[in-house]
Amino acid sequence: MATTTQTNAQAESSLGFFGQVNKMFDRAAAHTDHDRGVLHQIRACDNIIRFEFPIQRDDGSIQVVRGYRGEHSHHMQPTKGGIRYATSVNVDEVMALSALMSYKCAIVDVPFGGAKGGVCIDARNYSIAELKRITRRYTFELARKDFIGPGTDVPAPDYGTGEREMAWIMDTYTQLGDEDLNALACVTGKPVGQGGVRGRTEATGRGVYYGIREACAYDKDMERFGLEPGLEGKNIVIQGLGNVGYHAARILEAEGGANIVGIAEIEGAIYDPDGLSVEDVVAHRQDTDSILDFPGAENIKTSAKALELPCDILIPAALEGVITADNAPNIQATIIAEAANGPVTSQADDILQEKQVMIIPDVYLNAGGVTVSYFEWLRNLSHVRHGRMSRRFEERNAERILRAVDELTAEDFNEDLLESLIEQVSFGAGERDLVNSGLEDTMTQAYREIREIREEKDVDMRTAAFVSAIDKIANSYEQMGIFP
Ligand code: GLU
Repeated sequence: MATTTQTNAQAESSLGFFGQVNKMFDRAAAHTDHDRGVLHQIRACDNIIRFEFPIQRDDGSIQVVRGYRGEHSHHMQPTKGGIRYATSVNVDEVMALSALMSYKCAIVDVPFGGAKGGVCIDARNYSIAELKRITRRYTFELARKDFIGPGTDVPAPDYGTGEREMAWIMDTYTQLGDEDLNALACVTGKPVGQGGVRGRTEATGRGVYYGIREACAYDKDMERFGLEPGLEGKNIVIQGLGNVGYHAARILEAEGGANIVGIAEIEGAIYDPDGLSVEDVVAHRQDTDSILDFPGAENIKTSAKALELPCDILIPAALEGVITADNAPNIQATIIAEAANGPVTSQADDILQEKQVMIIPDVYLNAGGVTVSYFEWLRNLSHVRHGRMSRRFEERNAERILRAVDELTAEDFNEDLLESLIEQVSFGAGERDLVNSGLEDTMTQAYREIREIREEKDVDMRTAAFVSAIDKIANSYEQMGIFP
């Protein structure tokens, strides 16, 4: 219970992040009729390990580093989820994030259980050589404890990690094991030259774009929130220019025609109601080490204040718990698109529902990363690049069809027209095309399913998304016959 001296945010933190995820789960579970024991099993975090290990700093000193890995649900295997390097990493965060992974995978029909891991460091304070030692030792600990493997538990990038770290993880794992043909599939998000899949780096951001585009496509929904359908010209504020935020903002601007009016980063935020060019802001930040003082934009010194800017769509794309009961009443956005995991606390969620703000929930919206991780994992297990065997065939086939139509029609096509049609149509899909189209299809399909549940049960999008996840996980438990 909050005392008068406590801020709302402090009262929320006493519930913990995992407690908040479970609160959202319980709200949705009340709209299902699954057995209580089954619901309990879905909610529980199966395994969690915490370990400490020494690493040598570049100056020769020894530092003890703390690592974690949580495997939330084994209803499907392997378990899957990112590795985060951040000072916020603790047991509660790992349990909450691994639970969100279970629900996320279920919502987009990716056949994995949920997991998450992390190392409690601020990666900016370590050299590349030190980060390599930390990552290798962390992987060694996971392997020894049987918390990594193509069929066991498959890490991926998250906050503070990227393809470089994934390559180190893969290399360490392959060196530790016996000759395992599938060892490359022990981790996803790898560089393309080392078993990665084209399109994985931008996948979460691209998925965020497909999800928002789909949400804005329904006339009835947009009318309810007083907005015009479509993304064109929508004003967007985004928090975080990391891997997720950068690609989401870039694609929303370039492919969706949206207007990015505000961008927030650690050092502060910038605002220009006429619109900011994402690429120019990134270049400015590279040159000056800050997004502040971008030509033509207003500086906002306190980054968090940017969340309260007027806009159609607010996209928190950094860390959890940034919209709390303290700042939720000041939010002016009509739609909040949760690109980060858990950016809105459960109390803030109540306030925003009350204010009729539409929330596109994290468990759906940022599932693009794990969806494309699934494509990478499949590629590694099949040992062939997606599209390798079919691309040329598809290309030739389209050409053959056009030439046949030309033969069959009474009047021959104009030769130039025929050649230009062949050029346009005879196109075989490469790996990136297949990955993006699989991602688009997944995000669109999942949105439709959630929206249907929302209409049928008359609930908000987050509750509908959790209902979708609960139904799918409960079904797989029931099909396995674990609960007779
Ligand atoms: N860390 C990402 C997430 O939170 C990706 C996980 C994965 O690809 O396994 O969804």
